[in-house]
Amino acid sequence: MSLPLIRLDTLGPRGLEITPDAWALACAAEGAGGPVQGLTGRIHLERHDKQIFVHGELAATVTLPCVRCLAPLSLALAGPFACLYSPLAAVPEKGEDDDTEPEVPPALSGRVEEFGEYDGVALDLRDVVREFFALETPAQPRCADGSTDEDAACLARWAALAGPVSDADAPQSGAFAALASLKIQK
Ligand SMILES: [Zn+2]
Repeated sequence: MSLPLIRLDTLGPRGLEITPDAWALACAAEGAGGPVQGLTGRIHLERHDKQIFVHGELAATVTLPCVRCLAPLSLALAGPFACLYSPLAAVPEKGEDDDTEPEVPPALSGRVEEFGEYDGVALDLRDVVREFFALETPAQPRCADGSTDEDAACLARWAALAGPVSDADAPQSGAFAALASLKIQK
């Protein structure tokens, strides 16, 4: 079974195991912000009254440009997740006190790592996959931090992008140089 929309009333006490399918690939790409390959993993759903506990693991490779030199980077994203989804109305109002997290069923004690909300009727696994990859993707992907050779190659590509810098007023980075040239063209 691999439907992305899971109705609460179809979830039995034994739960449901979902293998991410074609629908998940599109969501992973949206969440990661680039093309995704080799998506694997499993998503397990358990019903606890009106709450749905979603846990499992996902893995995929995303291709994103280096923020510095713009060379394409292959990033392996993988990890476990464990999120408890509560119906919107059951989530306490935020701001009154610090106790804003919904109650965790005793059976799930120590297993919940994150909290989410859903409409109380059906949970859309597309949101689950999208959020997972959005969180796993680094905000500033950069050529192999830690490898001196790769870092030097990245800097060289970045310098080539920025163009020759000859005087003190020259822009400091490729991004600024690109912005400056856009302004001149207007
Ligand atoms: Zn780079």
